[in-house]
Amino acid sequence: MSLLAEDTEAADLGLRWKPGFAALGPAFFTELRPTPLPDPYWVGRSEAVARELGLPTDWHESKATLAALTGSMPVAGARPIATVYSGHQFGVWAGQLGDGRAIMLGETDGGLEVQLKGAGRTPYSRGGDGRAVLRSSIREFLCSEAMHGLGIPTTRALCVTGSNAPVYREEIESAAVVTRVAPSFVRFGHFEHFAANQRDEELRALADYVIDRYYPACRTTDRFGGNAYAAFLEAVSERTAALLAQWQVVGFCHGVMNTDNMSILGLTIDYGPFQFLDGFDPRHICNHSDTQGRYAFNQQPNVAYWNLFCLAQALLPLIGDQEVAVAALESYKTVFPNEFEGRMRAKLGLTEAAEGDRPLIEGVLKLLAAGKVDYTIFWRRLSGYMADGNVEPVRDLFLDRAGFDAWLLSFSQRHAGTDRALAAELMRRSNPKFVLRNHLGQQAIEASQQKDHSGVATLLALLQTPFEEHPGADAYAGFPPDWASTIEISCSS
Ligand code: AMP
Ligand code: MG
Repeated sequence: MSLLAEDTEAADLGLRWKPGFAALGPAFFTELRPTPLPDPYWVGRSEAVARELGLPTDWHESKATLAALTGSMPVAGARPIATVYSGHQFGVWAGQLGDGRAIMLGETDGGLEVQLKGAGRTPYSRGGDGRAVLRSSIREFLCSEAMHGLGIPTTRALCVTGSNAPVYREEIESAAVVTRVAPSFVRFGHFEHFAANQRDEELRALADYVIDRYYPACRTTDRFGGNAYAAFLEAVSERTAALLAQWQVVGFCHGVMNTDNMSILGLTIDYGPFQFLDGFDPRHICNHSDTQGRYAFNQQPNVAYWNLFCLAQALLPLIGDQEVAVAALESYKTVFPNEFEGRMRAKLGLTEAAEGDRPLIEGVLKLLAAGKVDYTIFWRRLSGYMADGNVEPVRDLFLDRAGFDAWLLSFSQRHAGTDRALAAELMRRSNPKFVLRNHLGQQAIEASQQKDHSGVATLLALLQTPFEEHPGADAYAGFPPDWASTIEISCSS
């Protein structure tokens, strides 16, 4: 292909684009092109996301699409941009960051932004190469679809495409691109950026854009004397609280909860060294680079609240009153525990709240922690017990049998008069059989590195419907092997 041809040819993905975020103007982004990667190949695809985007059924059959999604060919009608943001990393102001390797193609007429993560350097790459390695791209692809399958708000991923182009990390790896999809990729850090630079006009334009597009009810609020920006902060805070409750309930550790990794829509975003807990350890640290445990599993709800304070600080020039800004964060303290308890109740097969639910929940978590009992397996087996009455598979998980029996007694008393079949069904829908454990991802990654991508597809199918039984797939629902605890996942990606 000649240079000229590359300049004029474009892949038609069958999508119609609208300005979206780019309508905010050049203060918010830089227009640029992805940097081509040679000889791209498919690694994984989510047909569910393809349908969501409204792509034609044969979308993946054209070489041009493969090239376009790997950054090697322009996309017809798209005006790619990289956006600027700042943020607090590990509790410290980090200054300007921005999309250092994610390039946004634009927004579809269906209201979804499409990003190519790993598509080359941008003005915000700082020292980085603008690339993403195959390993972390597969993890992000699988986990975003897994979270969606679990019913947890998240950015989505259409596909992973790979190339043999070398990428230098601790060792030489190969490059990949994740095509990510979300209604918006705006982060807390976007607001912090303009606030820190005292650019109030841009700050207001950004807030107005996000409110009008995603939080229109704030315009007609009677909260805070009709202060739309305070109502917006409160709405973000409540969505974040609900998200954190879902993470804690499913045993998901994000690993890098910097304010630039916090979605303004309350989505799970930027999958790095995340982990679904194996044995239940509230103090688990999944990020090998997090030596202080700032983002340990049990710290997450507090860290999110801390991050919301950063957002409140950034929105202060718009809200106009510090007391009002602080008041807008207040409901986090009730929404989080309410959501958490409600979802824990569902895991226990309980539809209505009753006095004594909190000690029942705390009691089981304490037991699980004391025995480092496998979190996902415990809940699924407890669901099985509710269905068939056989308690041994659950009991076998505990060394402290007496402790478990005592808890089970209070659990059974709480369920006196319950329709067991109904409760079992609720539990089955609330306690997944399949989560993306580190070792499962690792196995799929190692096969993919040898050009066998079937493991990615197998995992994807299980994780998209994680509450189903999937007969024959029990090997993916078992205890982690011993080597799983030796997997070290850092920020390097
Ligand atoms: P993260 O903590 O992975 O979300 O990334 C923090 C910041 O570093 C973001 O601004 C990223 O865009 C940027 N970044 C991470 N990896 C790279 C890379 N390989 N090249 C350029 N920028 C990167
Ligand atoms: Mg990030």
